[in-house]
Amino acid sequence: MTIVDLTRNQLSDSFSRPITYLRVSVTDKCNLRCVYCMPEGGLDWLRRDELLSYEEIVDLVRAAASVGVRAIRLTGGEPLVRRDLHRLVEGIAAIAGIEDIALSTNAVLLEEQLDGLVAAGLRRVNISLDTLREERFYEIAKRPGLDRVLRGIDAAIAAGLGPIKLNCVVMRGKNDDEIEAFAELARDRELFVRFIEVMPVHENLGLQRDTYISADEILERIDAIHALRPVPGPPGNGPARYFAYEDAKGAVGVISPLSHDYCDRCNRVRLTADGRLRLCLFGNHHIDLRTPLRAGATDQEIAAILTSAMGIKPERHHLKLGEASSQMRAFSEIGG
Ligand code: SAM
Repeated sequence: MTIVDLTRNQLSDSFSRPITYLRVSVTDKCNLRCVYCMPEGGLDWLRRDELLSYEEIVDLVRAAASVGVRAIRLTGGEPLVRRDLHRLVEGIAAIAGIEDIALSTNAVLLEEQLDGLVAAGLRRVNISLDTLREERFYEIAKRPGLDRVLRGIDAAIAAGLGPIKLNCVVMRGKNDDEIEAFAELARDRELFVRFIEVMPVHENLGLQRDTYISADEILERIDAIHALRPVPGPPGNGPARYFAYEDAKGAVGVISPLSHDYCDRCNRVRLTADGRLRLCLFGNHHIDLRTPLRAGATDQEIAAILTSAMGIKPERHHLKLGEASSQMRAFSEIGG
């Protein structure tokens, strides 16, 4: 264990953006097969020895914290399919400088794991949910599970993890007729429903082109029913813009990487399950951290690699309708 000085060496990229947020993918596997994300037969999974161990992830997060990373989000694939995730949360929670540990999950396995995760230090959870109808859940996710997801949401609220952010990828002709029903969820409960524009990756180009709906259209459709007003979002580190009905407890948000990018505010980098630091979700820029780590690099040496990696973080992505802008086949490879 190395003593770190938390006041020095804050990460910042070539465009003077402070980088304080690290999204950590713990697995490339998932228990769902959402049509916009993963082929039904799955992908070529990483081998066990390619995956970072929890101890290795903790080492990397400690080095990142020493250069200013303050918030961690665990993602995947589906993070809850990796055994004993609470052990990783506990390890990260003990790192000096880490102020926020959050989880992105489809919530199918959330209810049964929640107590252990909260006891270990989990503070926030984002839950993906694209439909409120069971038969449609199967059409989109190619697996059953809506009842378990809804129980997971209730359990997370009961455990005090609210306000919960629900992430809904909107696709024309598949679930866009539920936009208003999702917006209603944010009226009575302290839920933040975030509508996400479907983004192009190699595995979904045709579907993305055919089903894309812009965030502006989504907002117009909700606003046509009841007027929305801009509101501040819940605490967090993300790029969503939020709006609410006059009397609502929660709010709706939009995440619009295609129609309104927010690269100028980018504060994040990503660690893949096999130990690569990805500088942009939609670019091929990455640095291998696993090799130096397994060769015995110290925290300071890893921190120096992180600092110099900031030099290749691109200024912005170049997403276009129906075109993949990187080699990424699906978000599960990098952690969305
Ligand atoms: N399994 C976890 C979950 O469901 O939140 C974490 C990983 S998942 C890849 C993270 C988020 O990315 C989910 O909200 C998912 O809906 C979203 N996502 C995946 N592929 C996407 C795409 N092509 N366009 C937009 N969002 C996508």
